[in-house]
Amino acid sequence: MPEVTRFAPSPTGWLHLGHAYAALFAREKAVGGRFLIRLEDIDGTRARPEYEGAIFEDLAWLGLEWEVPVRRQSDHFEDYRAALAKLEALGVLYPCFCTRREIQEEIARAGNAPQGPDGPLYPGTCRNRDAGERAQRMAAGEQYALRLDVAKAAGLVKGDLEWTDRGRGVFKARPDVFGDVVLARKDTPASYHLAVVVDDALQGITLVTRGEDLLEATHLHRLLQALLGLPVPEWWHHRLITDENGKRLAKRDDARSLRSLRAAGWTAERVREVVGKE
Ligand code: GLU
Repeated sequence: MPEVTRFAPSPTGWLHLGHAYAALFAREKAVGGRFLIRLEDIDGTRARPEYEGAIFEDLAWLGLEWEVPVRRQSDHFEDYRAALAKLEALGVLYPCFCTRREIQEEIARAGNAPQGPDGPLYPGTCRNRDAGERAQRMAAGEQYALRLDVAKAAGLVKGDLEWTDRGRGVFKARPDVFGDVVLARKDTPASYHLAVVVDDALQGITLVTRGEDLLEATHLHRLLQALLGLPVPEWWHHRLITDENGKRLAKRDDARSLRSLRAAGWTAERVREVVGKE
């Protein structure tokens, strides 16, 4: 079957060898199908136009071609709002007024807080606030995030949820791995988890390729797809490119950015060879 794949970078730094591998991987899996690029720029505090321009420049240098127009998440907050409204109607969202600091203090008080892939899980402080207090705090203009009541949400789904990774087989979804995640941030009416699920469906992605660091997120994404009634793609979580010490490349690590390598005389062919061999 011809696949629709995407490469979905955030314009928050220069692309490095790991991105080159991810982009080439997505392109390769779309042979005979469609390859899309999506700019994941909902974090307005970190996304910058110069990084966006550089993404296109670097990918073109690598020899990639993609469909236009490119979907830019910050142009589509309406789509994320609509998804939030659906979840709200299911009664699986609640407002969370907690600050980062309050959450840390609560976790420290609780002692052995359960851990998720991104650290300790949210202790649920705002889950049980009564409607009156919520309404009062909202009316007073207090800022709030929207969190998913994951236990309630999972309870709405009939039967076991499963998902398929092309490289690893079928997984039984464990949607609660991240606890009550934030789906709309205090400063942004969306979050990575919400936007990625909505966009993959709207763009008709059939095969989600991405790094294995995001494998755990798929458990939650599968639940969101079920709640929102979205089509379920398959996934292929690929290895991460590491440096000579086995450490995963980071955007901060400028020396391995594609533009630094290019300036140092690397050809696109050499990049393809290096990421293909590692
Ligand atoms: N934007 C994410 C990143 O930069 C990738 C998201 C995804 O592929 O689901 O790592």
